[in-house]
Amino acid sequence: MKEKFLGVDVSNYTYAQLKENIMSDINERRKSFIVAINPEKILHAQKDADLLHLLNRATYQIPDGVGILVASKMTGGSIRERVTGIDMLLALCEQASLHAKSIFLYGAKPGVAEQAKDRLKSMYPDLQIAGVLDGYEKDKEKVKETINHAQPDILFVALGSPRQEYWIVDHMHELDVQVFQGVGGSFDVLSG
Ligand code: UDP
Repeated sequence: MKEKFLGVDVSNYTYAQLKENIMSDINERRKSFIVAINPEKILHAQKDADLLHLLNRATYQIPDGVGILVASKMTGGSIRERVTGIDMLLALCEQASLHAKSIFLYGAKPGVAEQAKDRLKSMYPDLQIAGVLDGYEKDKEKVKETINHAQPDILFVALGSPRQEYWIVDHMHELDVQVFQGVGGSFDVLSG
């Protein structure tokens, strides 16, 4: 279910519903794409029709920003729970470790994804991390081959916004991955 804010769709799912839906996407081999929506992205999309279209192409637009909750309440909507990009990442890592699904961390400066991996491993010892790759690799074929070789169920993409969202839409159909999430600076946060 979605609500629209200045033309941008936002899903009104709670964490619990998102976790359930995304695990079903993996089990039923449906590709899905998660984008975090905040008021800044909604404003950018007003001046950029391509970005608006891109945001609305995502499967789940999570309400990352209290401004969205306020706007939903004011317009009679039902979004009451904030879902941040990093908390969604953690929730998916927890689900992956509980259900034997694997993840891959792509993005951030060399060494950062590796440190984020160590942090996630200490939080979820059973988590299968199929691989990591920094976000400055220039060889596009190598990026694709590395991810396809690792065959993760979930790919977290930390290239900054909207670069990561464009990257996901351009590559999701050629990658052997079910779930894609753009996570901005989350690897930097996890590694720090
Ligand atoms: N980044 C990257 N490749 C690039 C440009 C940026 O991997 O070509 C990474 C950068 O190192 C940082 C993240 O993308 O880890 C962007 O974080 P930022 O907090 O700026 O993103 P936002 O959450 O604002 O979209």
